[in-house]
Amino acid sequence: MHSKKIIVIGGGPAGMMAAIRAGQLNQDVILIEKNPSLGRKLLLSGKGRCNLTNACELNSFLERFPKKAQFLRDTFKKFFNRELMDFFERRGLRLKVERQMRVFPVSDLSSSILDVLKKELSESKIKLLYKREMTDMKIEENKIKGALIRGGEFLACDAIVLATGGLSYGFTGSTGEGLDIAKRLGHRIIAARPGLVPLETKEAYPALLEGLALKHIRLRFTDGKRHVVSEIGEMMFTKTGISGPLVLSLSGKITDWLDYGRKVFIELDLKPALSEEKIDQRLLREFRKNPRRVIKNALKELLPQRMIGVFIKFAKIPGDKNVSQITQKERKTLVVLFKTLRMEIKGPRPIKEAMVTRGGVSLKDIDPRTMESRIVKGLYFAGEMIDVDADTGGFNLQAAFSTGYLAGESASL
Ligand SMILES: Cc1cc2nc3c(=O)[nH]c(=O)nc-3n(C[C@H](O)[C@H](O)[C@H](O)COP(=O)(O)OP(=O)(O)OC[C@H]3O[C@@H](n4cnc5c(N)ncnc54)[C@H](O)[C@@H]3O)c2cc1C
Repeated sequence: MHSKKIIVIGGGPAGMMAAIRAGQLNQDVILIEKNPSLGRKLLLSGKGRCNLTNACELNSFLERFPKKAQFLRDTFKKFFNRELMDFFERRGLRLKVERQMRVFPVSDLSSSILDVLKKELSESKIKLLYKREMTDMKIEENKIKGALIRGGEFLACDAIVLATGGLSYGFTGSTGEGLDIAKRLGHRIIAARPGLVPLETKEAYPALLEGLALKHIRLRFTDGKRHVVSEIGEMMFTKTGISGPLVLSLSGKITDWLDYGRKVFIELDLKPALSEEKIDQRLLREFRKNPRRVIKNALKELLPQRMIGVFIKFAKIPGDKNVSQITQKERKTLVVLFKTLRMEIKGPRPIKEAMVTRGGVSLKDIDPRTMESRIVKGLYFAGEMIDVDADTGGFNLQAAFSTGYLAGESASL
């Protein structure tokens, strides 16, 4: 059978997998990447270790894509976590499953994932064109005819897989041109918003604690009246506010609340395992053990050193006050601070600092059985440029690989 000419735009995980699948099906494939190398964002993923997927079962996996699960079901039926893990393991890369079913290469190096993909691209005889940026597509009678490259080059083809990513970490190459092109062609675009993103606080004190990580704290997100979410985990202070796994996971929900014009407060419970009463008893015990100590030294037993200054400032207690002189009221203020350290959220950091982009090409304009556009025949979408995103845990990369696989296969048929 005559092979089709397929152009894949974007050398991230989605584009590479689309090209590999089309190559395996003996199509004539060109992969176009505007950077001088492939997979820049992939290399940064999982703090350089690449959490490539999650080993949980299908329904739990789909729950991570609220409201988008139905769209992804067909994709995952075709190529899911087991198939992705097999893909790498059959090519000699050993994988391991860590806490919360997160899957990583045993090497702990994202470059080992990229190496397998690059080797497979070469074995599938994919033509790679680097430093080429697609600026537009030629369409006749609503059907793809080719891709236009910056500088005037035109490449004719039968199908295009567009996998240019979202808008986050733009320096890796994902700067949103693919979304602009899709929009020009008539696709609805759900406004791009930052997902998995640090948050800015109205208070300035986090800057004093920049870099300080707090493990096993409870973070409550409230609108000032009721608690919306309350979760235990790890967070970190930044120059402008807060970040860390717990904050990133809740950032989408918090950003939605702010977008609705609501106020959002974060309350930190630094001692989730202890009641107020127990903390009071611990303070009293510390004070009695060494009554000549000053408060800023006594608090060292209960707080990270860098937080002590903030605590005694909020409690309006002079740091050199002797613990034997601390009043019951002052102790009570300290206890409340341990359980409810409050800050108001101003907003998310800019999208370029977000780990994923929320929004993208509307699911209404993509056929979930093929990833083909419902507007232009022969145009397929894959990866983060589609309006799907999830929490951390390997879900986003699996979605990129799965939609890439399906788009590459469908474009070949
Ligand atoms: C710091 C960080 C850590 C992350 N860690 C994880 C993790 O551990 N696990 C996980 O599941 N997810 C993780 N993610 C998310 C995950 O990396 C992305 O969801 C994924 O890379 C999306 O893949 P993609 O192929 O759709 O897009 P991208 O990886 O963004 O690739 C798009 C490619 O298209 C190219 N391109 C763009 N426009 C054009 C054009 N006009 N012409 C030619 N080429 C173009 C870009 O240069 C880029 O190479 C992380 C993200 C970040 C930022």
